[in-house]
Amino acid sequence: MARLVIVSNRVAIPEEGGKAVAAGGLAVAVKEAFTAYEGLWFGWSGTISEEPSEEPTLIDRGRVQYAVVDLSPQDHLEYYAGFANRALWPIMHYRLGLGAFSRSDYAGYSRVNRTFARALAKLVEPDDIIWVHDYHLLPLAAELRGLGLDNPIGYFHHIPWPAADVFNSLPASGELLRAIVDYDLIGLQTEADVQNLQRNLVDTQRAIPLGGGSLMVDGRRTRIRAFPIGIDVAGFKEAAEKANANKVVRETIAGLRTRKLLIGVDRLDYSKGVPERMEAVESFFASNPDQRGNVTYIQITPKSRSEVPEYEQLSRDVNEKVGEINGSLGDPAWTPIQYITKAYPRPVLAGLYRAARVGLVTPMRDGMNLVAKEYVVAQSEDDPGVLVLSKFAGAARQLPEALLINPYDRFEVAEAIRAALYMPKAERVARWKPMVERMTREDVDWWARNFLAELENFRTMEREAP
Ligand code: UDP
Repeated sequence: MARLVIVSNRVAIPEEGGKAVAAGGLAVAVKEAFTAYEGLWFGWSGTISEEPSEEPTLIDRGRVQYAVVDLSPQDHLEYYAGFANRALWPIMHYRLGLGAFSRSDYAGYSRVNRTFARALAKLVEPDDIIWVHDYHLLPLAAELRGLGLDNPIGYFHHIPWPAADVFNSLPASGELLRAIVDYDLIGLQTEADVQNLQRNLVDTQRAIPLGGGSLMVDGRRTRIRAFPIGIDVAGFKEAAEKANANKVVRETIAGLRTRKLLIGVDRLDYSKGVPERMEAVESFFASNPDQRGNVTYIQITPKSRSEVPEYEQLSRDVNEKVGEINGSLGDPAWTPIQYITKAYPRPVLAGLYRAARVGLVTPMRDGMNLVAKEYVVAQSEDDPGVLVLSKFAGAARQLPEALLINPYDRFEVAEAIRAALYMPKAERVARWKPMVERMTREDVDWWARNFLAELENFRTMEREAP
């Protein structure tokens, strides 16, 4: 049986005895993929060391072997904090003004992809299928092909793929587009992302569309398709149902007394629209003074990427906004915004989502947004809350029954908050039901199975083609 080799920037190694680490969305997704395959997970160890060895450290855990390498301080600065997070991340999220391109960062990005490829190639066997994740590793397949690997290699892009004019503002865009077609299958979150990348390849790389998402570029065939990532619905539902046993959840609910809860959960990232959302909440209280004291907004926002200067600035902006709004609207008996910068385990979040009448998911741009899906799945069927969702989140395609808003319009968001708070139960149930059914059908297992089936299938077809 073919082995599955997963490659991603970070690797979540479970503790001995199989206990999972506090895992990000990718780790949950990868765990699902490994249920059907034996395999290897390769990537950065998370450690920065002065003179990292090119030889990966190998760790065995049951059916899965983990292979990790350290990064040097320069690699970390240029590849990770620099090109990946200061150039690719903002551009992919349509934030041209925040993009900071530097040639040395790009050289570092290319170098780390080359080093990863050299270390990985030694571990890959001829029958393995390789699945690479996310924007840190766009040129990895090209590097692996350069070393003579002919295995099926798929790539999944967890974040948005922008319109050609936006992507092509990146000075390295042409090189990256030429490199990416070395993947046999490129998975994106939405049809709109697929259109953006396909059109770009046709317009700038003379790609020839072959139908069904396949393209011929410079004699190589690749396929680009949408695979919206899902969540572990069964696990999340169970966590939400049991969440009352958790002290944080119980005390939070008790502390609300009769107040209704609005909840937001986002990494501290400018793509998530946290300050913009706070302004919308402020507008809501300004135009609904009778609701002051009756509604509490809890915003959970763990810090992220603090080594990137734009994130430090954002942290200051949000702190200032919270202080301003609480200072001007609050009173000794009521704090409108409870802002928390700690991360919580998913089972706690599940309980808080379930307790919240309104889930506020208002990113300025997001590849998918798993919080939106988790909020829906965590609701109780007899009294579900309402999801207010940005139309610029990939999740909006699968959750059209949410109250879809433009996050740039604080008044529209304020209106949606009001509509959500006053929505009769029958309408809340009617909107929620089709969403939870879709989430259950299109869960993380469905996503991983579809992607891997397509990757294996595409390679077989290609081999059989004349
Ligand atoms: N999350 C978490 N603890 C927190 C905040 C977030 O476990 O304190 C999880 C959240 O439940 C979700 C993921 O982090 O599964 C965030 O995924 P999403 O797609 O919403 O955003 P990303 O951070 O990947 O851009």
